[in-house]
Formats: sequence, C-alpha cells, structure tokens
Amino acid sequence: MTARVLVVDDIVANVRLLEAKLTAEYFEVVTAMNGLDALEAVQRTKPDIILLDVMMPGIDGIEVCIRLKANPTTRHIPIIMVTALDQPEDRLRGLNAGADDFLTKPVSDISLFSRVKSLVRLKMLTDELRIRAETSGVIGMMVRGEAPLPSNDGHILLVDPRVSSQDRIQTALGESHEIAIATDADRALELVQTSAVAFELIIISIGLDEFDGLRLVSQIRTHDATRQTPILVVVDPSDQQQLLRALDMGVNDYLMRPIDRQELLARARTQIKRWRYTEQLRQSVKASIEMAITDSLTGLYNRRYLETHLNNLMEHYINRGKVLAVLAIDADYFKAINDTHGHDAGDTVLQELAVRIRQSTRSVDLCCRTGGEEFVLVLPGTDLPSAEVIAERLRKLVSGKPFPIAQGKAITVTVSLGVACLEGAGDTPSKIMKRADDALYRAKREGRNRVEITAA
Ligand code: GH3
Ligand code: MG
Ligand code: MG
Repeated sequence: MTARVLVVDDIVANVRLLEAKLTAEYFEVVTAMNGLDALEAVQRTKPDIILLDVMMPGIDGIEVCIRLKANPTTRHIPIIMVTALDQPEDRLRGLNAGADDFLTKPVSDISLFSRVKSLVRLKMLTDELRIRAETSGVIGMMVRGEAPLPSNDGHILLVDPRVSSQDRIQTALGESHEIAIATDADRALELVQTSAVAFELIIISIGLDEFDGLRLVSQIRTHDATRQTPILVVVDPSDQQQLLRALDMGVNDYLMRPIDRQELLARARTQIKRWRYTEQLRQSVKASIEMAITDSLTGLYNRRYLETHLNNLMEHYINRGKVLAVLAIDADYFKAINDTHGHDAGDTVLQELAVRIRQSTRSVDLCCRTGGEEFVLVLPGTDLPSAEVIAERLRKLVSGKPFPIAQGKAITVTVSLGVACLEGAGDTPSKIMKRADDALYRAKREGRNRVEITAA
C-alpha cells in the first residue's frame, strides 16, 4: 500500500523521525512546520492522510483540524493527531475537532503503521465509492456538503469472557451506546446472525485463555454480513504477537489493557462514525447505480441497460448453442391517448402497461422501456414458437381489460408486437433488434393490435 502522508510538526527532529519511518515503508512524505504551511500543503499536495502535531505556535493543530474538517473539499482526508503523553485532554480536544485518530509521542512503529494503514485503506475505499457515485451522476447531497454524521447510539457487540472487564467496558460505553454482550465465540456468532439491527462495531478481548479471540476475528471477517464491520480488539501490552496477527487479519483498531475510559469512548466513536459514513456512501452508490439503469416512470430497465445486458446474454447463449427471443412492443395510437386524455393519463397507461408486461414474464426475462411507448422483452431460453405464444398472451392481457386512467374512467389500450429469435454465430444485438423491429412495423402496417414474427 502506498499513499501520500503529510507530516506536520514544529520540531524538526519530530518531522524527520516520522518521515524516515514512513519513507522506509514506501509512503510518500510531504512535510510542514506550522499550521499555515500545513493548510497550504494540503491544498497543494492533496495528501491521503495527515499526521498533525497539536502543540504548535500560531495556528495550532486543533485549529488546523477544525479548518480542514469544515472545508468540504478537505473534510474526507483522515487526520491523526499526535499528542504528548502528559496531555491527555489534547486527545479529546482533537477528537472533538473532528480528528479521525490520535497517536501518543513517542510514536511506536506498531501504532503508527496500524493506524496509518487502516485510515489509508479506508480512504481508498471511500474515494472509490465517491468516484463511482460521481460517475453515475447522482452524487447524493451527503457526499459533497454533508453534515457530520452522529456517532452516538451505536449498536455494539462486546465479546469478553471476563465479567470484570465486561463491566468496565459496558459502564464506559453504555451511556451513549446500545451494547450486546457475548462471553464466548459461539454466542457472539449467534448474535451476529440473529440480531435485528446490524452491529456497527464489534469489540473483542484477545489473548485470554478462555477463548480464541483471533479465531473469532477470522470467523467474523468471513461472514458476508460482518465482512466490513469494524472490529476493535482489546489486548495486553505484553501480547504484541497476537496484536500483530489481529491487525494482519483486518482488525480496525486496538486498545491496551488496562483500558482508558476516554480512549475507549473516543475509539468506539471514531469507528462508528466511519462505519456510518462508508455505509451511507455504499447505499448512495447502490441507489445511483439503480437509478442509472432503471426507467423512473415504470421501474423497468432502461435502454442503456438493455444494450449492455443483451450483448452479454447473446454472447453467452451463442457459445452454448441455446435459444433466446426478443419481443419489440409498441403501444398503438398512443399519441391519441395523450391528446384526448392528457399527458398524465398517458403516463398512467405506461405504468399499467409495465405492470402487465411484468405479469406475463418470468423473473429471468428482462423487461425494458426503451423509449416513450416502446418496450423490449428479452426471453432467455425461449424459442420462436414459445415466444409467439408469450407475445400473443401479452397482447390479449393488454387489450382484454381497459386501463384505469382517472376516477372511474378506463380506456382500452392495444399494443403491436414483433418477435425475433437468436440465429447463432454471427448474430448481434443490433441485428436481432432490427429483426424484431421489422416484425413490429409489419404488425403496425397489418392493422395493429397483433403479433408478427421474423422466421429465421
Ligand atoms: P403507433 O400506433 O403508430 O405507434 O402510433 P403512436 O401514436 O403510438 O406513435 P407515435 O410514435 O406517433 O407517438 C408516440 C407518442 O408517445 C408521442 C409522445 O408524445 C408520447 N410519449 C412519449 N413518451 C411519453 C411519456 O413518457 N409519457 C406520455 N404520456 N407520453 C409519451
Ligand atoms: Mg406507438
Ligand atoms: Mg413509437
């Protein structure tokens, strides 16, 4: 993993030390010696992560953090506050200013690299999601100008076999979060699977004789539902080996025993906040992808999706020597419906038409609205005679029952259909669509409300 790290500290020796450690791990390092330089360096170098000293003359680290987190163009860059060991209140000030994490001087390699790597990994994921959301053109309001998400009322699973340590953690977190407790791995997995609300953070005590915490970590990571759930492990300072393995397995953060209450609260809050942010991004990407491939009036797929999907389907079906049919459907005299009953009534008819099209197809069939009053069905595994039967059934389903348009009013609607089938090697989406359209035009010419087929 490589990333650009901005190191900010007013003491040259501190900057050089962090720079040397990070460069040795192949990070690209940019440096700044005061708050103003730091703000300027962020704009100029667009770092992936910032290591920010709190105590600096002039604009201090807290102020730099507040300014960067207030700016929508820099808000997503993770900030790690570097604080002095004897200034525990700086941690809280930093986290309240919106910092993503903190490190205590002197900075140990394990804490430096685990935290930098975890935040860089997260930033890569969120950058990717942001780009996808932007590409599909439907970037939610949340991505650009969003208000910071709340980080309280989290749903946390605590896995700890020892009552005393359970109590301590529960007392610290219980005020602001909902906590479920498991004393062994089986119970933990059961809760993960049966809990009505997904856990937003799982805290696991590792290095204890009572159960194998690392095994549980790997089980949680292999479950689909919890693959991405943040995991925080609690570990003894003497247990570096276990901690390293846990970090390798994708654990997001750790706490050393004895647990510091403020640090526990802060780390839980940060993990939950991040989790909520990436979840929101994931949902927004999912929604924008759906919007990009569906027609908003009818909920059917749109032309863009049809073109891509038909291409893939045909390749697959030709290679396997299977059959596939395409139906081109066009409402008859639709302009007259608009002219007589209004555009809204026309829309209602289109929606009902989509419902009837869905009713007459199987779930493997692809239903698309390709234009105003034009629809296309792709029927995998269907030969010409069967496709003709389906087309005829749909024609009757449309013409047989009037379409309701307004209170008490209903009108008769008819459609014309053209049917074409896959013709083996050399056939293409545009060729099969052309054959279906030709058949459709014949149906129009022959008087409408009818089915025409193109024999191979
Ligand atoms: P034909 O039987 O030959 O298909 O005649 P037609 O009137 O159905 O065909 P034409 O292509 O001349 O007109 C289609 C009409 O569909 C014209 C257009 O205003 C209307 N239309 C296109 N999209 C929409 C839509 O989203 N909503 C509504 N209400 N009408 C639409
Ligand atoms: Mg028409
Ligand atoms: Mg038309």
